[in-house]
Amino acid sequence: MRLILLGPPGAGKGTQAVNIVKKYNIPHISTGDMFRKNIKEGTDLGVKAKEYIDKGLLVPDELTVAIVKDRLSEKDCQEGFLLDGFPRTVNQADALDTELKNLSYELDHVINIDVEKEELIDRAVGRRVCKDCGATYHIKFNPPKKENMCDVCGGELIQRKDDTVETVTKRIEVYLEQTEPLIDYYGKKGILINIDGKQDIDKVFEDIVASLGRE
Ligand code: ADP
Ligand code: AMP
Repeated sequence: MRLILLGPPGAGKGTQAVNIVKKYNIPHISTGDMFRKNIKEGTDLGVKAKEYIDKGLLVPDELTVAIVKDRLSEKDCQEGFLLDGFPRTVNQADALDTELKNLSYELDHVINIDVEKEELIDRAVGRRVCKDCGATYHIKFNPPKKENMCDVCGGELIQRKDDTVETVTKRIEVYLEQTEPLIDYYGKKGILINIDGKQDIDKVFEDIVASLGRE
């Protein structure tokens, strides 16, 4: 299964990705996670990406496409993959098309998770992530069993630096301008699945699985 998860920041892509990759046994490719790993490790890419991420802007296509191309060429992507948060511009989508042709891969579906703006801000600002394993929680909608402690590994939960009201508002603006056109882009290719992301986490997952048509 070759899938893309599309949707505005805070829509629930990462949350659903965890369940999707488990169910379909495919690698999870999140460009956001890849950038955060590089930032943590202090690589050149991390230093460059941080400049944009902290401002709520997109990392330039050139850098982003390069890391995805590298990742897709790895062996574990041969049987399928889930791209989460990539592509985010028409230029990235065109570059992905070219790369998939080179690899003789075809996309099966693009899952678009739809949530309105006010809810997105609440979701992103209340998001907490485990600083060790990256698991995602929400202070109200998906709290950990023990305050500030990861259910999975016991790590400390932290707030992402780009999850302030101001930066999330900017990220939503950037989404509407640069990423939303991809709904049409993939709609025209006939592979788009629209999911109502306002429902609770389990119901969103149920709808995704039902739409993919493989229980
Ligand atoms: P994205 O990867 O699209 O930015 P996340 O999966 O990190 O979004 O979700 C953003 C926040 O919203 C997290 O704190 C997550 O726990 C919470 N969340 C995700 N899905 C839902 C949902 N269906 N209902 C309520 N909160 C949700
Ligand atoms: P995410 O974890 O998907 O919310 O991404 C966090 C941040 O990483 C975004 O706000 C962007 O600054 C950057 N980023 C992630 N994916 C991309 C992408 N495909 N293109 C450009 N920037 C990206």
